Amino acid sequence: MGQGLSCRVQDEHGLFTAVQFGDLEIVKTVLERDPSLIQQKTVYDRHSALHIAAANGQIEILSMLLENRSVNPDSLNRHKQTPLMLAAMHGKIACVEKLIEAGANILMFDSLNGRTCLHYAAYYGHSDCLQTILSSARTSHVASSWGFSRFVNIRGGKGETPLHLAARQRRPECVHILLDSGALVCASTGGHGLPGSTPLHLAARGGSMDCIRELLAWGADRLHRDATGRIPYAVALKHKNGACAALLNPSSAEPLVWPSPLKFISELNQDAKALLEQALMEVNKEREKAILKNTGYSMPSPSHSDTTAMDDNISEASDSQLCCICFDQLCAIEVQDCGHQMCAQCTLALCCHNKPNPTTLSLPAPICPFCRSNIARLTVVKVKVNTADQELDLYSSPKQRKSRKSMNLSEGSSSFRSLSAVPSFGKIVGRGSGRVSVDIEIDKP
Ligand SMILES: [Zn+2]
Ligand SMILES: [Zn+2]
Repeated sequence: MGQGLSCRVQDEHGLFTAVQFGDLEIVKTVLERDPSLIQQKTVYDRHSALHIAAANGQIEILSMLLENRSVNPDSLNRHKQTPLMLAAMHGKIACVEKLIEAGANILMFDSLNGRTCLHYAAYYGHSDCLQTILSSARTSHVASSWGFSRFVNIRGGKGETPLHLAARQRRPECVHILLDSGALVCASTGGHGLPGSTPLHLAARGGSMDCIRELLAWGADRLHRDATGRIPYAVALKHKNGACAALLNPSSAEPLVWPSPLKFISELNQDAKALLEQALMEVNKEREKAILKNTGYSMPSPSHSDTTAMDDNISEASDSQLCCICFDQLCAIEVQDCGHQMCAQCTLALCCHNKPNPTTLSLPAPICPFCRSNIARLTVVKVKVNTADQELDLYSSPKQRKSRKSMNLSEGSSSFRSLSAVPSFGKIVGRGSGRVSVDIEIDKP
């Protein structure tokens, strides 16, 4: 009864209910009758109409409210949460964009856990919101006052970075974006989780193979100890994440690590980067298979279908050249300025060290294996399709989409693995039908 009363008191004019359900006309009418209501907050949580619009993704109402100059885009509720935090929490990307456009501050901390909107996006796994907040940080005053990399590694009240939260909550796509944006893979928490936990400790606890794979590929240290002296392997064992433990076992084969210190790697264009990242993940998945085979765990099924799709590409594009290093894969990467070509996996083998040198942290710059000249750039090889008279980039965009999707699909506990194979099957059929049309054109006399 008390609850009913408080409801009636806090929303006697129907404003908040109308905002929640997106009834723009009622909101307008109520506010025309009493413009001061725009500053009204709910009794207990101290939510403004803007908070409610943001949390519920009511973009029309949110835009209308923001047009009013008296509305503060950073109004605070009971827990000092801003509308932007609530939009990031609920994955309301349009509202995130609109609030940032209206000048909402991305550097606000709530009073619950001392977290920012970036923490919220990472924790709840809304990679689109995460991406939008990061690109705002790149261009806004935050970049000049705080520095972008400091923002990416921003600490919550217990020392948790957004990467810690994404790893713990099994959000591999957010983990990937954060690492790609300069998140520190070896950061330790203060009091969050067990003190001294790295993102790898928290991923071991969360049990996401995809998060662990991402972190290891970024050079996360399997031997790092938390404050109680435990390595991530011990954490995975304790939480009965057996397959994760197999990868984290310090005696298992080392995964390939993305050669980020190399200048031409940091300057890769989107297509070449997606292609090489994909190759890295495939090489590491092959290693995982070997590791898991010995321990009796099976790989998630999407990795099998990925391999099949790759083989299909090879048999079709018979025009393009076979890699002269491995004689196994097709040339996909061109070294510039010399123009020599090789496959993505051989390119990686050239650039990757199994483990970055811990003392210098620098990798000696590799040279072209054919002519020994310096590598200025790596680009994607364009595959000519003669009859269609067009350049078909076989590797880049579909791969990029595929890698993003498969990251989503293979996420999940072992009990979901068989399910995740179903959407991935549809994905391959979709890709296949695209290729069929090309084949028909080629086969014409
Ligand atoms: Zn090769
Ligand atoms: Zn060369």
